[in-house]
Amino acid sequence: MVWIQRFDPWRSTLCTCPFKYSLNIYTGCAHACIYCYITSYIRDGFKPRPKRGLIGELERELQRFHARRKVVSISNSSDPYQPIEKKLELTRKCLELFKRFGWKILIVTKSNLITRDLDLLKEDCVVSVTITTLDSKLAHILEPNAPSPSLRIDAIKLLKLYHIPVCVRIDPLIPFINDDWEKLEKLVKILAKLKVDHVISSTYKARGDSLARLSLNFPERYIKLLKLYLMGERISNYYYLPRDLRYRLMSRLKQLCEEYGLSFASCREGFRELNDNICDGSFLLS
Ligand code: SF4
Repeated sequence: MVWIQRFDPWRSTLCTCPFKYSLNIYTGCAHACIYCYITSYIRDGFKPRPKRGLIGELERELQRFHARRKVVSISNSSDPYQPIEKKLELTRKCLELFKRFGWKILIVTKSNLITRDLDLLKEDCVVSVTITTLDSKLAHILEPNAPSPSLRIDAIKLLKLYHIPVCVRIDPLIPFINDDWEKLEKLVKILAKLKVDHVISSTYKARGDSLARLSLNFPERYIKLLKLYLMGERISNYYYLPRDLRYRLMSRLKQLCEEYGLSFASCREGFRELNDNICDGSFLLS
């Protein structure tokens, strides 16, 4: 079994990421975000399970690996710090292995559990923390089992205290749901105060299953949302908002970040010209 894969976000032609590898430590994710894509390609996507024999096989794989650019992104289809990690510590063990073999690491998470591993993250790591809203009630609907936005902010403070580069993903941006610009400005202002190193954003890419969850949770806004997506385009099996609307949303957020002195990039939108720096934050790797 090959655990480390070439990073390939569903062969999206709009991805602006540089070459890197990818590892998902768990299959499935208990955070159960209603907008999540994994349920369209992972059976029981919200029921996480460890990958059998992962640590031993990963060690063997790393011994054989002779890549020139040893950068791995953990994880893109499951949060490496979801609740099960507290007990199993598989992410911690993987980090130890990657460090032993001289890899550089990009981590994406919504969990403050990441602060348990500060000792391993101090060098050659960039952490991306996703915050879709500061509104804890809304966050609880969108990301029912993930730590609250305030716990994520606390985690960012601690990461920064340890001089670990931090990106924040305002991702996804969903029209009528979390695109309140006053609240977004408040969030960006806080991020600037925390001196985060880079902000990444992306609009929601719709699939049938996540749309169904949005319709259940936001029945009164759903029709408006659906109409927008029906006017949009279909790319790599996802429904995208109309291009001009996506461009407007990303440009507005970029402008907001600029006003507060923050670096910005859009993700899987194809708008290279909006990116101040490499989209995934890998430019922050030492
Ligand atoms: S944390 Fe990420 S992988 Fe997990 S459910 Fe949420 S969006 Fe999906």
